[in-house]
Amino acid sequence: MAETGNPGNGATSEAGPLVVLEGVQKHFGSLHVLRDINLNIDRGEVVVVIGPSGGGKSTLCRAINRLETIDEGRILFDGRPLPEEGRALARLRSDVGMVFQSFNLFAHKTIMENVTLGPIKVRGVAREDAEKRALELLDRVGIASQAQKYPAQLSGGQQQRAAIARALAMNPKMILFDEPTSALDPEMVQEVLDVMIELAQEGMTMMVVTHEMGFARRAANRVVFMADGQIVEENTPDEFFTNARTDRAKDFLSKIL
Ligand code: ADP
Ligand code: MG
Repeated sequence: MAETGNPGNGATSEAGPLVVLEGVQKHFGSLHVLRDINLNIDRGEVVVVIGPSGGGKSTLCRAINRLETIDEGRILFDGRPLPEEGRALARLRSDVGMVFQSFNLFAHKTIMENVTLGPIKVRGVAREDAEKRALELLDRVGIASQAQKYPAQLSGGQQQRAAIARALAMNPKMILFDEPTSALDPEMVQEVLDVMIELAQEGMTMMVVTHEMGFARRAANRVVFMADGQIVEENTPDEFFTNARTDRAKDFLSKIL
């Protein structure tokens, strides 16, 4: 574990980066959306991905848990190529949690059912144990009192925190966040970011697509700036936000700051 360079994360004992992308290319028809992406994510690392709309950020997230296939290159997770199908793929999807912009909880299930469904159906956890753990997780994200409600009865911020609890219930090795706060009313953004900051501090490996600079500065080890399907620039949050090197990044920052 010492070899991972991330003593803060005791979640796994294997050495080497958790995610490796090498020469990844992806097209949608004639559109070249991922252009030679090379990126490693270390265990316990928090990588913020930032950049203009249409730049390929969501596609990159989706490629890592194989919601999208790639055309060329390779992606390793936990030292192994991504599985193509079957139980290994289901396993990958539960090892890599995903939290999207639209909370996509199951509307006709309670928050408790939303959080326990995966552990019971995919991991084979007994209902009683799954519910006990779900309550702990809901408590951790501050919504234990909402467990018996349906998603529509919760605020957007509460729904997004439920979505995070649902991801955590699978004991993921990593969580991908794709613009988790951009659909929220402004007053609810911070309550979700606070949960994410706490997760980061506890050593969860995270890739977070977000334009929330405060989050990046507090929680990210690295900022990756992506535009037109390419990684244009990578740096520490402080360097990136105060001293962007490329015109592309400077131009983007001048629009969001
Ligand atoms: P971002 O998340 O940075 O906004 P995306 O990864 O969503 O970028 O999209 C990158 C480009 O790929 C965009 O031009 C988008 O319209 C296109 N795209 C994304 N998904 C699909 C798809 N399933 N089919 C065709 N084009 C797509
Ligand atoms: Mg996107």
